[in-house]
Amino acid sequence: MESTLRRTWSEIDLDALVHNYHRLRERIGSGVKFLGVVKADAYGHGSVMVAKTLEAEGADYLAVSSNDEAMELRLNGIKMPILILGHTPKEQVGRLIEYDITQAVTCKAKAVEYSDEAVRLGKTLKIHIKVDTGMSRLGYLCEGDFFINGVEGISEAVNMPGLETEGIFTHFAVSDEPGEECEKYTRHQFELFTSVIEAVEKKTGRKISIRHCANTGAVARYPETFLDMVRPGLLLYGYGEFAKELGLKPVMTLKTVISTIKTYPAGTAISYGGIFKTDRTTRVGVLPYGYADGFFRSLSNKCSLMTTAGPARQLGKICMDMCMIDVTDMQGVGVGSEIEVFGPHNPIEELSAIAGTIPYELTCAVSKRVPRSYIRNGKVIERELLLRM
Ligand SMILES: *Cc1c(COP(=O)(O)O)cnc(C)c1O
Repeated sequence: MESTLRRTWSEIDLDALVHNYHRLRERIGSGVKFLGVVKADAYGHGSVMVAKTLEAEGADYLAVSSNDEAMELRLNGIKMPILILGHTPKEQVGRLIEYDITQAVTCKAKAVEYSDEAVRLGKTLKIHIKVDTGMSRLGYLCEGDFFINGVEGISEAVNMPGLETEGIFTHFAVSDEPGEECEKYTRHQFELFTSVIEAVEKKTGRKISIRHCANTGAVARYPETFLDMVRPGLLLYGYGEFAKELGLKPVMTLKTVISTIKTYPAGTAISYGGIFKTDRTTRVGVLPYGYADGFFRSLSNKCSLMTTAGPARQLGKICMDMCMIDVTDMQGVGVGSEIEVFGPHNPIEELSAIAGTIPYELTCAVSKRVPRSYIRNGKVIERELLLRM
């Protein structure tokens, strides 16, 4: 569905995505597979178009967080392997097999359920086993005293009927954080991971073909962790300091327009709560962009958005559907002028830092009423609006 309004929209630069993919490919070398993480609608960039682009460029694998996200890709023609990182209820095992979707197995109870269900159907479910080496979230616990038990549980899963163990993986907790302590923690996680694999392979007499652990931080900083496949998300979309260091480009630009301009005398309170009062005659631009579009209300009165004449201060509380900016000194900026919320001229990293969060949260927050324009070879190739119309 196409949006009829020129209101607030995102531009998804698929050329930047392709550039980032190939830069990362060069970095990891040809012997390592590339899994693109496209969970959460590809971090708000549109998982179908991102997946189509990665598939065409020759990526090896995709990862999502749920069966619904995997099905969205399959039903839109994506044929490449897809790994579900989170849980799937056992009732859906038949569907996973039918659509050739790979499932993470994170503990003994899940392994047993999935195996029973696959055997009942007379079929085989492809799995990747998740090892908890220090993220303390999902996965077979293998640290310290849990090592023997963990290896035993994983080996059991490898040998279970109805399950085909194609891969094994773990997730780093602090690979993107600076400092010696975090480095030590990450190296320990990696060593534990490789010891677990070694012990499982010895115990079962089987080789697990895809061993993977490198997320964005590890792809940028720990080449020794690449193993058989890397698993970056954020880097692919070109955000954060590592992306800059590696010459990657931001994929999303979020834009809005000035819908109204009003000039207020000094001493006028702007927006809910009156937390901002003009201290001079002020030309105020009203933007059709608010927290229901994915702006963070916590940024109220604290950030700037980019006009063609430079950064304009955001004024007062951010409302649900609107916010205000100061365009008093902005030459040539008027009704209909484009405003860059974040993008190449207004780095998302600055905005997320002011909000006390990470770029991921800002791109994921862009809501469904914000249409997307996909750009390839410098031209808009598709427009998308997720409202039910
Ligand atoms: C989200 C996720 C990733 C990607 O993380 P980035 O920091 O975006 O690279 C990789 N692996 C797992 C298990 C994840 O959940």
